[in-house]
Amino acid sequence: MRCVTPIGALCVVLGSCVSLGSGIIYAQTVRFAVIGDYGQSGAASSPAGRVAAMVSAWNPGFVVTVGDNMYGNTRTDWSALVGAHYGQFILRDPLHPERFLEQTSRVQRFFPALGNHDAEGNDITGYEEYFHLVPGGVGRLPAGSGGRGVHTRVADYYDFVRGPVHFFVLDSHHALTTPASMAAQKAWLQAGLAAERTAKWKVVVMHHPAHSSASHGSDPAMQWPFREWGVTGVLQGHDHAYERIVRDDLPYFVNGAGGAGLYGFRNPPEQGSLSRWNQSHGAMLVTADDRRMEFRFLSVDGDGQGMLRDSFVQTAVR
Ligand SMILES: [Zn+2]
Repeated sequence: MRCVTPIGALCVVLGSCVSLGSGIIYAQTVRFAVIGDYGQSGAASSPAGRVAAMVSAWNPGFVVTVGDNMYGNTRTDWSALVGAHYGQFILRDPLHPERFLEQTSRVQRFFPALGNHDAEGNDITGYEEYFHLVPGGVGRLPAGSGGRGVHTRVADYYDFVRGPVHFFVLDSHHALTTPASMAAQKAWLQAGLAAERTAKWKVVVMHHPAHSSASHGSDPAMQWPFREWGVTGVLQGHDHAYERIVRDDLPYFVNGAGGAGLYGFRNPPEQGSLSRWNQSHGAMLVTADDRRMEFRFLSVDGDGQGMLRDSFVQTAVR
């Protein structure tokens, strides 16, 4: 829905809006950050701290992660390594606000994907409690359209809609380690995409990259028929670098440069690799309205807003 109105109070009501030309506001615009592989240090001067400061300076409507939110003790270190940087985006549990004092948001503005380091020892109890459900509290991540989201101690995947974008957040860790979870998530994603009739853009978020030229490389097991199923773009992590690979007209972004040590690229890179950056840390800033979706990667160089290293505009609605 395009909403044309003079610049005014509508943005305050609806969140992020942009001005396009002579005072036209597209009320369905969303503006969000994407971070990955970041939970390594709580220090402001660390790479993770510098990326977090850049993201905060962007003042995004919300934050999406591509996993490896935690490289410490997954049972205890969440407040120090995640909350120190991003607590202001995370919904405070109204029943147990004392549990994580740094979680101060009144609405959920933080949507994590599960990475392998979030599941050290194959235990995601800490992840579930920090982001979703403190014992005796309330569920804080979306249950997904139709209540199909899964938040348990053996898997975490869910979907949600913001403005014109429908996000499908996969749990690639359990998909890759448990055949039944792989089958369940494929069926869940295909059905969810097929049922989506309204959202202009359909984005898959997952940790392990289907396509990547960096150290870990492409994971064939995650090369699902995303394009055939109607996906607009795929956000990935695990490899500590930034890359944009286009395969079959579908952009795959590797965005694991959020704080952990950066990786090198393979030579030659993967087919379709159009942009790569691993010289400094960074994050993505994405805007979408009902006509276009722009993906940008900015590094922590330059002023507090970062330095633009890549930009890609998707206009093809599937
Ligand atoms: Zn990883």
